[in-house]
Amino acid sequence: MKRNTIQSVLMFAMILLLCSWGEKGHQKINGSASQNFPARLNRYNGWSEKLAEHGSDPDKRRRTDPTEDIKHYIDIDAYSDFLQTNRIVEGKEEAFNKYGEEFIKKNGTLPWVTDSTYQELVKQFRAKEWSKAVLTAADLGHYVADGHMPLHLTLNYDGQLTGQKGIHNRYESKMINLYIDSITVKRSRLHKVQNVSRYVFDYMYQNYQYKDSLLKDDLIAFNASGQEYGAMYYQTLWSQFGTITIRLITDSSKATAELIRTAWIEAGRPRIPREISLNADESIK
Ligand SMILES: [Zn+2]
Repeated sequence: MKRNTIQSVLMFAMILLLCSWGEKGHQKINGSASQNFPARLNRYNGWSEKLAEHGSDPDKRRRTDPTEDIKHYIDIDAYSDFLQTNRIVEGKEEAFNKYGEEFIKKNGTLPWVTDSTYQELVKQFRAKEWSKAVLTAADLGHYVADGHMPLHLTLNYDGQLTGQKGIHNRYESKMINLYIDSITVKRSRLHKVQNVSRYVFDYMYQNYQYKDSLLKDDLIAFNASGQEYGAMYYQTLWSQFGTITIRLITDSSKATAELIRTAWIEAGRPRIPREISLNADESIK
């Protein structure tokens, strides 16, 4: 019993430590997405506020729902196909057949969950289930953002394989929290997504590439600050990796907007009410 309690506490601590862009990062990404929406989609004037407010619901679900955790990452470099060809089998059924359920679940299901969240959003737009659609859109933005966080895409997610343990939290929570207010997400021109699954995998393959720079910059910052993680460390990490971080956050917000807009188009561009009331009990789920 005691051991179980300790295990739960440890697990809870791990989840708090490894929650993607941190709450502030997710708020920024989700809250900036609707600035790119066309006017008809922006008829509902609560997008920015509600997407931001519910941007971390999926992370909160990890505390109570044991099936939630694996949805937030994919260790893409665990796949030998990826190491050899820079791709893996992407279709869910084909992937499960080829790699096996156990392997896939062990290494995270982020791309398939992003895709199924998108499909859910299309259905809810079609059925005019507005409050559900707003919350699903917030979830979608969260999973898209996780797919833009390089350490959510690798086996070396916490620098534990290269002697840099703790980089996950140093980067996504501590550094992001220090600098988030200085990041302005610029508006982007949106394109209709032709193939959602391909689109999601493509940005993950691309964003995975940044993990090497991040790990390298972590070492540079550590050495520049006399081998400790004080103010100088965070200042140096930001000056080294800040530009890429702004790009990842901007791309993430744009991808969130493109997927929500494409879901709305696929649902036949339904007329959205100006106001949607979200029941408190509907959030987080
Ligand atoms: Zn997450």
